[in-house]
Amino acid sequence: MRGDSGVLPPEFEYVRARDVAEAVRVLDDSAEGRVLAGGQSLLPLLRSRRVLPDVLVDLGGVAELHGVRDEGDALWIGALSTHHEVACDPLVRAHAPLLAQAAAAVADPAVRRRGTVGGALAHADPVFDLPAVAVALGAECRVAGPEGERGVPAARFFVGAGAAAIGPNEVVTGLRVPRWPGWSFHYERFPSDGRSWAVAGAAAGVRLVDGHIAAARVVLGNLGPTPLRASAVEAACAGLPARAAPVRAAARAVDADVVPPDAVGDQDRQRGLARVLAGRALIAAAEV
Ligand SMILES: Cc1cc2nc3c(=O)[nH]c(=O)nc-3n(C[C@H](O)[C@H](O)[C@H](O)COP(=O)(O)OP(=O)(O)OC[C@H]3O[C@@H](n4cnc5c(N)ncnc54)[C@H](O)[C@@H]3O)c2cc1C
Repeated sequence: MRGDSGVLPPEFEYVRARDVAEAVRVLDDSAEGRVLAGGQSLLPLLRSRRVLPDVLVDLGGVAELHGVRDEGDALWIGALSTHHEVACDPLVRAHAPLLAQAAAAVADPAVRRRGTVGGALAHADPVFDLPAVAVALGAECRVAGPEGERGVPAARFFVGAGAAAIGPNEVVTGLRVPRWPGWSFHYERFPSDGRSWAVAGAAAGVRLVDGHIAAARVVLGNLGPTPLRASAVEAACAGLPARAAPVRAAARAVDADVVPPDAVGDQDRQRGLARVLAGRALIAAAEV
């Protein structure tokens, strides 16, 4: 591919990988190889020449990266699954409805039909919806490299804004999402529809026993460079009656979770968003 101006991609070699092993081999042999999945984030970066790969490895033809599998204690979601496929998949809707809900909130139908789970994980943009949801569900990112395949818990996968715990010669192969028997989850974002990127998001889960919250999980998105576990809110919720007013009050504990020491921006606004979104997500998860 050739381009002489700054608005066209630079010259690079293009390889359409047949399988993951070939993709890894090509990346390993390259100086600045890049993987192409849905292209929703990468193509604009190429056109503006903010990334200058020597090789582009297209995963589109790699059959083993497609689909959703029931693995008993978990669902495996292939890296090339699009947001649209995740939102509509019957297995995901039945066993990980939080994931289907968040996927349905991504952008518009065109982006949802191109953007992939693997791309959303690898690109690790804080404004994406998937990272907070993957952490809330205790999911594991599957990554293949020259030494074989490994699993990285989502809580350790996102290491900075736009930075994920994968090497330049590695490929995300899928997301493994454990089942959560007895739990229910909900995702809230602002704005609530995908016509705009999420200014902030909150994924929450609760396990109810006798009308009380026995345990809660709350993870905030785009309120820091990586998803933020709201431990203070989780602790404040434990043992509460599953009613809206006490849950909403417990969500105020998020003040202790938000705004890490290096945070910049309007801290009151960030705390306000976090309180409202965490409260709404918990209340919806508890269906109170
Ligand atoms: C207009 C617009 C609006 C959007 N709105 C939202 C939104 O509201 N919420 C949201 O969550 N997302 C949103 N997105 C993001 C989008 O949905 C995709 O998730 C995102 O662009 C990345 O997925 P992709 O498959 O397109 O990756 P690509 O663009 O193909 O790749 C992105 C990066 O990830 C790397 N990569 C891709 N796949 C792999 C892999 N399997 N292994 C290793 N590296 C890989 C690439 O090398 C590249 O560096 C939006 C995108 C656009 C263009």
